Amino acid sequence: MILVTGGAGYIGSHTVINLLDAGYDIVVFDNLETGHIETIETLKQIGNIKFLKGDLRNIDDINKVFETYDIDVVVHFAAFSLVGESVVNPLKYYRNNTFGTLNLLESMINHDVKKIVFSSTCATYGEPEYTPIDEKHPQNPINAYGASKLMIERMMKDFDAAYGLKSIKLRYFNVAGCDKLSRVGEWHDPETHLIPNILKSTFGTGQTFKIFGDDYDTPDGTCIRDYVNVEDLAQAHRLALEYLNRENKSDVFNLGTEKGDSVKTVFNVCEQVLNKKIPVEVVERRPGDPAKLYADAGKAKSILKWQPERNIENSISSAYKWECRLQSKENAHV
Ligand code: UDP
Repeated sequence: MILVTGGAGYIGSHTVINLLDAGYDIVVFDNLETGHIETIETLKQIGNIKFLKGDLRNIDDINKVFETYDIDVVVHFAAFSLVGESVVNPLKYYRNNTFGTLNLLESMINHDVKKIVFSSTCATYGEPEYTPIDEKHPQNPINAYGASKLMIERMMKDFDAAYGLKSIKLRYFNVAGCDKLSRVGEWHDPETHLIPNILKSTFGTGQTFKIFGDDYDTPDGTCIRDYVNVEDLAQAHRLALEYLNRENKSDVFNLGTEKGDSVKTVFNVCEQVLNKKIPVEVVERRPGDPAKLYADAGKAKSILKWQPERNIENSISSAYKWECRLQSKENAHV
């Protein structure tokens, strides 16, 4: 069986669907702090998954999973992932992400499970020295979130050398879009990400979308990011897992579209896809935002045979359908 930690979250739940579609048996482990029980209920309707509620900060919780189920490989998403919050509250990030993963790895070794696919991040690179960013780019994270994940990458390297634990580290760039059938989606509270924030401003709630700075050194002055579709990302996890099962060796891959879109471009595409005017204003820069980040994902393409298939328009329209569902849920609770 495959253990998916954080399977009730955004990227985790999409990956669970991809793995279920491919016929794998899954155990989801999640503390439901940022994930949702409704997502677990939806996943249970899609396929045969087991769910265990537990917290990686408590090693007994994770030991129980390996004692109860016959796990061959782990796909590890469970983490906090807000850059701004990590700067204000680094303790939370090192305790949950780094220490929590140390517990997971210790439990894996004690139960003789030696394969893991890990959600890392382009935030481990820090301020880019060149773009597109490849896997050899120096890693100098500028916030505790990126540092908490870089430490995990390092632990995995040492654990491979000492205990033969094989890991595939996937460094994601920005993630966008939702399941094409809107069964699961991006569901954060509070929401801080670009596309859901633009979409939330279209529902007549009085929320004006805020562009964080238009004085960056980019063609239109707004930040450039690489928005990879979440279903494409889920597919990359399956390919990475199958590569790990086949080759039994550790490696690292960037996952992105290799195409940068500015905040203004994404905003304009939202207006086009929705055929709506969206209220917008430019405000101060958000601290910690580099001007330009996009991936060189050539290694994932050539070794994992990964090919992202969905563009930003696809991501925006699936995200909008999901956002409409979320809005009707919220209205139903009023
Ligand atoms: N952004 C923005 N307004 C928002 C949310 C984000 O202008 O309400 C910008 C943000 O400054 C960054 C880009 O959109 O340049 C992507 O931000 P997001 O939080 O989605 O992802 P991150 O790059 O932090 O991983």
